[in-house]
Amino acid sequence: MKVAIIGVGSVGSAVATAVKNTGLVHEMVLFDRDGVRARAAAEDLGHAATFGFDVKITAVSNYRGIRGSDIVIIAAGANQKPGETRTDLLENNADVIRDIVPRVMDNVDAKKVVLILVTNPQDVMVMLAQSISKLPPSRVIGTGTMLDSARLRTILSRQLSVSPQSINSYVLGEHGDSSVVNWSAVTVGGLMLDDFCKQSKISLPKTTRNTIEHRVHNAAYEIIRGRGATWDGIGAAVADLLRCIINDEARILTVSTVSGIGKNVLAMSLPRVVGAHGVITSLMPKMSPQESAGLKRSGKIIQKNFNAL
Ligand code: NAD
Repeated sequence: MKVAIIGVGSVGSAVATAVKNTGLVHEMVLFDRDGVRARAAAEDLGHAATFGFDVKITAVSNYRGIRGSDIVIIAAGANQKPGETRTDLLENNADVIRDIVPRVMDNVDAKKVVLILVTNPQDVMVMLAQSISKLPPSRVIGTGTMLDSARLRTILSRQLSVSPQSINSYVLGEHGDSSVVNWSAVTVGGLMLDDFCKQSKISLPKTTRNTIEHRVHNAAYEIIRGRGATWDGIGAAVADLLRCIINDEARILTVSTVSGIGKNVLAMSLPRVVGAHGVITSLMPKMSPQESAGLKRSGKIIQKNFNAL
């Protein structure tokens, strides 16, 4: 299994480390328009690989070096500075995607490659990459709200004193400020959230739920304020998505891919079954009228941003 990572800044490097640590990849190539940075990352990661899984890691100076890649991960582009939203990155990062995707497509097998998009604003970049690459939408996948869903599970886990592994909870829509916490479909150990709370004698009133939502929506801003950028969470999310694809696990992940939603065709995060060939099925979970309206609003924002390009 050969994987290419385009863009090895904070996120690309964390992705490379997490992917290396899956032990599922025999070769990893790194490309960055800053060649010095790519070579340094490959050198550092190569040293790390001597302590774990044996992965051949090289920096490549042009796109011919990615030939033979089964999966290409795009983590290039500007990140948010303190106070910036993901949408503020729109025009700059659209140019980055327009630069990268045609070069990638000239050097991969379009019949089988899977593109994973990490660059923000996620959903619009997925739509752009899919339209440029002309790949089936099922094989152009954004990590979407995988990270937001993980943040929700972490917070709920602490609140409910139960392992995150026993919680099914999803954040839907835009990977951005309009994302929607799907409270109506949260289950804990197979019980609906309210039933779990009743049986466990835990109180989770509306005010607490609002605070949880606020923390999910603001997690990235808080991390950027404290650390300058976010990288570990997304690195782990990409590795998890990659594992699901390589092992053909058919797990349900909240990834972003272009699909029909009502009368519209756009990319946003929904629970989707993911396997070896990418997204297999997209699911529409149970939602309250408020959550449904939130999802529609999120879709409108994504479409408006895409149309503005
Ligand atoms: P960074 O500035 O540390 O690194 C970006 C890298 O991209 C740099 O090394 C730069 O040289 C490279 N690059 C820029 N344009 C390029 C091009 N045309 N071709 C090749 N390489 C190019 O930024 P970062 O913190 O690593 O963030 C990268 C992206 O990931 C940002 O858009 C950020 O918002 C996004 N991100 C997404 C999530 C998520 O959940 N999807 C989470 C965190 C960050």
